[in-house]
Amino acid sequence: METTEILSEVKNFINGNFERNGQPSLDVYSPLTGKVISTLPLSESSDLDRAVQSAQAALPAWSSMTLKERVQIFFRYRSLLEQNIDELTNLVHIENGKTLSEARAEVEKSMELCEFAVSMPQIVSNEVQEVSKGVECRIERKPVGVVASIAPFNFPNMVPHWTMPNALVLGNTMIMKPSELVPLSVVRIAELLKEAGLPDGVFNVVNGGKEIVEAICDHPQISAVSFVGSTKVAKIVYKRATSNLKRCVALGGAKNHLLVLPDAHLEMTASNVVASMSGCAGQRCMAAAVMVGVDKVQHIIDQMVIECSKIVPGDTLGSVISKEAKERIENYITEAEAAGAKVIVDGRGAKVDGKEEGYYVGPTIVDYVTPDMKIAKEEVFGPVISIIRAKDLDEAISIENNSNYGNAAAVFTQSGGLAKQVMERASAGMIGVNVGVPVPREPFPFGGWNESKFGVADITGKSSIEFWTQNKKTTVKWNPEARTNWMS
Ligand code: NAD
Repeated sequence: METTEILSEVKNFINGNFERNGQPSLDVYSPLTGKVISTLPLSESSDLDRAVQSAQAALPAWSSMTLKERVQIFFRYRSLLEQNIDELTNLVHIENGKTLSEARAEVEKSMELCEFAVSMPQIVSNEVQEVSKGVECRIERKPVGVVASIAPFNFPNMVPHWTMPNALVLGNTMIMKPSELVPLSVVRIAELLKEAGLPDGVFNVVNGGKEIVEAICDHPQISAVSFVGSTKVAKIVYKRATSNLKRCVALGGAKNHLLVLPDAHLEMTASNVVASMSGCAGQRCMAAAVMVGVDKVQHIIDQMVIECSKIVPGDTLGSVISKEAKERIENYITEAEAAGAKVIVDGRGAKVDGKEEGYYVGPTIVDYVTPDMKIAKEEVFGPVISIIRAKDLDEAISIENNSNYGNAAAVFTQSGGLAKQVMERASAGMIGVNVGVPVPREPFPFGGWNESKFGVADITGKSSIEFWTQNKKTTVKWNPEARTNWMS
């Protein structure tokens, strides 16, 4: 598949069939070239309703299968991901713009998420206890019903796998709403689920924008909504879904602070910090956004400049998602410069030969940023790191604590004691010690704090089991001779 090839039009996937019914159409661009590669339907609430009816109809049979039966489909599905990894990788590359190796790593992560889902029978065990002579109480985990998953643009393959495998193996049926910027990977995911033997109606895809998200939050037959995207929209979705009495977990944006101490290992720290801020063109909610340099760290900053010089846009650095994103990112850099910061590596105006219309921003380091600057506070979501200088660890931690967000924070040091202080005092859900992208791997759950996540459960790992199930508590007595007591 060439990046210039026009891919077939995107269709909704409802009750096991792909369909498109003359809804208004939206162009899909490849950010690598700026060219239209497909179109998607801007679905209407009637499309969502048909998807919900198909999910509702599939629910009784699917939820009454045993967990062990349901995971069999996901063993087959995980192998199909592996068999089709080249094609899936290419789709992510073309629609999102990340490099082929980043896209491949994304699909591999989706496979790992399926591995966790198929391990559910080993993790989810119901509890039973004789609570009174001859009387048993038991707890069973039951699905919540028809659920929805709303995804962002930055991981077209992986984010749908944060929710879909766990929600489905636990007996729910699902409506997936992909980002309208990257709808192609989910089409292939639906095809492979069908090939793996997933019954019709268990997984449905409805494409579109804001209107479909609002209709999901309002639909009376949807019981749970998961959302991943910006904080602005996470707040809207969380408020609207919960005001309609649904359970909701809504993951928002991020502004991750990496605290770098003078004793940090030079090469490892410089390469990890630069990889964190520039990987996936900085469009990861776990990307380094601010480096807080504590005391004397100039030698590390100099090494980061060397690391940036090794990065080649269009080769080892992918594109950002859109023309608007490129302009927004470059404006942040320009405004910071005007406010007194110093751009020591400048990625503005990056061009790639043969892809002059692609949306590229080179790696960028902005030094001498102060906490009051816009670039220090807002999510840039590009391959840009701001450096704020702090006199000591207390000041560095207070800079981190002042962020509205709280997805990730990390510390780079050789001192266990100082690292421990950051582990305890940073106000973020995921902490790294000498790790620039501290994504917990299954069974550990993924989820931030503060304005990076709304709702109680995390979105992956063991914590997601709480979100995708509800407890049924049953009290049983069969023996009439059981001693009479207050439970009789
Ligand atoms: P986005 O919030 O613009 O869009 C996410 C989803 O919401 C899309 O499906 C979109 O169609 C829908 N949407 C957009 N505007 C809406 C509105 N006004 N009302 C209702 N629905 C709307 O996010 P994005 O630009 O696709 O993704 C990037 C953002 O996602 C970044 O902020 C990034 O940090 C965040 N993100 C967070 C995590 C996390 O784990 N916390 C993971 C990935 C991405």
